[in-house]
Amino acid sequence: MIELRTPAELDAMRPVGQFVASVLTALAEKADVGVNLLELDAFAHAMIRERGAESCYIDYHPSFGAMPFGKVLCTSVNDAALHGLPHDYALQDGDLVSLDFAVSVDGWVADSAISLVVGTPRPEDLALIETTERALAAGIAAAQAGNRMGDVSAAIGDVAHAAGLSVNTDFGGHGVGRTMHGDPHVPNDGRPRRGYPLKPGLVFAIEPWFMHGTDQIFTDPDGWTLRSLDGSRSAHVEHTIAITNDGPIVLTARP
Ligand code: MG
Repeated sequence: MIELRTPAELDAMRPVGQFVASVLTALAEKADVGVNLLELDAFAHAMIRERGAESCYIDYHPSFGAMPFGKVLCTSVNDAALHGLPHDYALQDGDLVSLDFAVSVDGWVADSAISLVVGTPRPEDLALIETTERALAAGIAAAQAGNRMGDVSAAIGDVAHAAGLSVNTDFGGHGVGRTMHGDPHVPNDGRPRRGYPLKPGLVFAIEPWFMHGTDQIFTDPDGWTLRSLDGSRSAHVEHTIAITNDGPIVLTARP
């Protein structure tokens, strides 16, 4: 079911968006060569406790997950594309890491992700991140009342195709509200003027994720982490946005 939020509800969703943004900003500062993924998760968990927020991930157990996630942060490193389960691993020079974080505050959810390189970056990794960020910006720009979801999807996919990347549409954005995953689905590729009409009050996450060499993934033996089939590196960025008559509001915008 697709729910539309009143202007007052959108205002009520701003604090959780700002909190998620602040955690990702702090994590981006903390992530460095030698920092363990479990430290990043513990750091985010401490911020959750201090804020009195509730993790959307720790008890998350969908049909595609082998067991409850058990952590509060997704840490996807290099060939890990999505749902990276934090494990005992110290980041190495040049690692491309994506951090995906969702919590609820006062009953409202926000979901956002960033990609970054620790230490000395490979130019092709910076280009991949830049393309993914540009796709997110294009998707947000297309998220206008009167457009359809296909316009958002096509805007994302166009950026990928222009960069020579293929797109996996098995996982994409989603409605966000009282829970982390709701309708509508937001595919990372599609056809303009098709799909759900974008109406004021619609809140959803846009989350392009692209891999250098493939659009195929497999599940790591940890039961959660999705890795590129060919070992190529992946980038993933995400914002939770709201449709309004005055254009999209990026609820998880970082200062
Ligand atoms: Mg997310």
